[in-house]
Amino acid sequence: MQPYKIYIMQYARRDASSSEVLLGDFHNAPCEMGYYMWALSNGEHTVVVDMGFTEEECGKRAGRIWMADPAKNMDAIGIDPAKVEHVIVTHLHYDHVGNYALFPKATFYVQEDEMAFWTGRYVKYRVFNQAMNVDDVVAMVRFNYEGRIAFCSGRMEIVPGITVHRVSGHTKGMQMVEVVTASGTAVVASDASHMYRNFQEYTPFPILHDIPGMLDGFELMRKLASKEELIIPGHDADVMKRFPAVADGIAIVE
Ligand SMILES: [Zn+2]
Repeated sequence: MQPYKIYIMQYARRDASSSEVLLGDFHNAPCEMGYYMWALSNGEHTVVVDMGFTEEECGKRAGRIWMADPAKNMDAIGIDPAKVEHVIVTHLHYDHVGNYALFPKATFYVQEDEMAFWTGRYVKYRVFNQAMNVDDVVAMVRFNYEGRIAFCSGRMEIVPGITVHRVSGHTKGMQMVEVVTASGTAVVASDASHMYRNFQEYTPFPILHDIPGMLDGFELMRKLASKEELIIPGHDADVMKRFPAVADGIAIVE
């Protein structure tokens, strides 16, 4: 198996504060968040991780600043989304699912209890539904009826060298992605750790499903990654400074 390159593709940003990203922090220190999709490719397999929100959705969410069309980002690294067969959906929050229409041939890999949760009894509460776009959930339900959802339960290898792990914490069925690269095993944590400081300081992000699940996730990503530098958080603007750029708004781990 050839090792994978991980492309980190930024499509939006937001000026946030430390109190919005660290549970129990009351400093309100400036803190920039990035919004990303990830593509994993080794020449044989291409797997996309998460789909970002749409430009239209961006306009409805305060403070989010649109930076790049996800389709253009993929074009810049030679990926035609219309041909992508595997899309891992780390969780169903609006900023990770919106661009499903770009992937007409894809199977979507979702944890079984993530799908169950967002079609279940708690979604009527604002504390949960504020991070959702119901149209995304309806689309996923339709894809399920069409046989395009692959349900994961816990740990599952998607293709050789790429394995998802359910970690809960941020959402009921949050999953992160273990990837074999030439530098060692990397973890695309997505929102299992939004920022570097979340896993480094064992401090959860305040949008939270269960704290023990979040902490177990931090432990698991540290165990899986060959070194801490190969843990890629889901929303830290620093990611784009720590890895080299291959195109405007796109960094690479190899
Ligand atoms: Zn997110």
